[in-house]
Amino acid sequence: MSAALVTRGLGKRYRSTWALRDCDLEVPTGAVIALVGPNGAGKTTLLRLVAGLQRPSAGSVSLFGDLAPAQSPQALAQLGFVAQDHPVYRRFRVSELLHLGRSLNRTWDQDFAERRIAELGISPRQRTGRLSGGQQAQVALALALAKRPRLLILDEPVASLDPLARREFLQILMGAVAGDGLTVLLSSHNVAELERVCDHLVVVANGSVQLAGDVDSLLGDHRVLTGPGAAL
Ligand code: ATP
Repeated sequence: MSAALVTRGLGKRYRSTWALRDCDLEVPTGAVIALVGPNGAGKTTLLRLVAGLQRPSAGSVSLFGDLAPAQSPQALAQLGFVAQDHPVYRRFRVSELLHLGRSLNRTWDQDFAERRIAELGISPRQRTGRLSGGQQAQVALALALAKRPRLLILDEPVASLDPLARREFLQILMGAVAGDGLTVLLSSHNVAELERVCDHLVVVANGSVQLAGDVDSLLGDHRVLTGPGAAL
């Protein structure tokens, strides 16, 4: 199957320090891949480079055979991004975010977005800042999915949620993945909770990829639990 995402020699340097170095990744279309690793490993940096939110200091990113989103509106249009701590714009009402999404995205699925919000029991008139952390996470996910992306990127999507909210969030995510071959790249500190969701793991530590492989083989690898990713 063709690759959804390819990075070659990707790196990011802040002053004299490399936050990410020599990253070669190939994510098959339809795969669900988790970047795991301790604080400061370089996970967010990698996700932001892939999403075109930062320019690489070295190397390249291509999405679906196209140029990086930073250089290509076509690639950008195929991408959904859920940032860490779900910064849905808290001053806005849910309905305003739906309106904004529809105005900005040609592929926007308003029926889907409205249905998801209704299923969550959230009134479109509510300000997102008044919602619980779990609800905000769900709204952020609904908005990202309503764009009908081919690649969905989530930066530690469940880190701040309680166990019930985590389970609900991951269930919705799994439903979306099962639906239409969506490719997912997410980051997490916690492998255990992702076991049922992901098929591949990429262990990142000290700014570089240490190990990569399918979940079953890597979870049996003691280095995942005791090595650079010991915070997992
Ligand atoms: P966490 O799990 O804590 O979010 P992470 O794996 O996502 O960590 P990054 O946020 O990618 O790690 O950070 C990697 C390294 O780059 C860290 O040492 C961090 O301090 C550094 N870094 C990140 N952003 C910047 C920046 N804007 N300026 C300078 N250094 C930065």
